[in-house]
Amino acid sequence: MRFADVIGQEDVKRILRSQVKADRLPHALLLAGDTGYGTLALALALASYIMCEHHEDNDSCGHCPECIKTDKLIHPDMHFSFPVIKKSSSSTTSDTYIKEWLTQLGSDKYFDLNDWLRVIGTENKQAIIPDDEADNIIRKLSLSAYEGGWKVMIIWLPEKMNGSAANTLLKTLEEPSPKTLFILCAEHPELLLDTIVSRTQRIDVPPLSTEVICQALMEKRGLDRDTAMGVARVTGGNWLKALKQLCDTDDSKAKLNCFMQLMRLAYLRDLQGLMRWSESMASLGREQQKEYLSYMQHMLRENFIYNFGHSELNFMTPQEADFTYKFARFINERNIKQFTEEFAHAQRDVAGNVYGRTTFFNLALQTIILLRK
Ligand SMILES: [Zn+2]
Repeated sequence: MRFADVIGQEDVKRILRSQVKADRLPHALLLAGDTGYGTLALALALASYIMCEHHEDNDSCGHCPECIKTDKLIHPDMHFSFPVIKKSSSSTTSDTYIKEWLTQLGSDKYFDLNDWLRVIGTENKQAIIPDDEADNIIRKLSLSAYEGGWKVMIIWLPEKMNGSAANTLLKTLEEPSPKTLFILCAEHPELLLDTIVSRTQRIDVPPLSTEVICQALMEKRGLDRDTAMGVARVTGGNWLKALKQLCDTDDSKAKLNCFMQLMRLAYLRDLQGLMRWSESMASLGREQQKEYLSYMQHMLRENFIYNFGHSELNFMTPQEADFTYKFARFINERNIKQFTEEFAHAQRDVAGNVYGRTTFFNLALQTIILLRK
């Protein structure tokens, strides 16, 4: 993967290249940002750049033996650690799923946790980087570099590390070995131990601009400019959302339906209906539940903003706008704060394994009350 293959992020690329050129690369980098902004793609491009035998000024050469190995993901000094689902029978590490991981990376460098869970066929479970992974990381990095150059350990979503793996990582970061680079790609750096963050150099990877996404949709997906711009405007700078908008419209429709259903049933005080709604939410996979709840918070925000009459601040699909046109007046200064809090609270409950149906029914009851404010 070359920097040229990473969508946008020119500023981040410039920072990374200048550190390599000045020989000031830290031993641990924290790329903080949504995975759809390109954190993993940047990590792979940086690994190729430093491993390349004769990189050009701005990019790896793409054809030396090192580049060919990093490109094919078979470089023996490039290691990965990522969230997995713990198998009960034996010790589980990233290596347990390495075949699936390399297949996924080989087909697309842009994917999120939900996509990954679908690949390993375990959508209903919580993914973690388990205890067993700690030894795995230490073992890999204690081997001397096969090729005599850099060793790179890319940790995707390190916030999914549990306590003991995180502590081991911390120890490793405290005693860095020479020519070893950790690249942590975190969506929620606030969930990492402060002591880990303080031993990394943090680089914030920002959302992509609407124009960059529009260009990428035209180049990579062959869309005409108007269609590409229409999609790009509702993606919040996230390439994965742009792709999902294109190929997964059923999913967007399902989320919108779910939100509309909740609001209609709550407005009608239809308890039977709300009970069925709660059950259908509880039947979704846990990661999907979080996604739905985060979508609903987005819709609450859009509805609230709609009332101010500044359409340039609204980012909605035509279907969402259609509902918002009728519904927005119910979301106002009196209830928006508490609404957002209730949905965020439900999202935390889901993440914390609280039994689903109760969480969603409580949320539905709160919605009845808040709609009347
Ligand atoms: Zn090269």
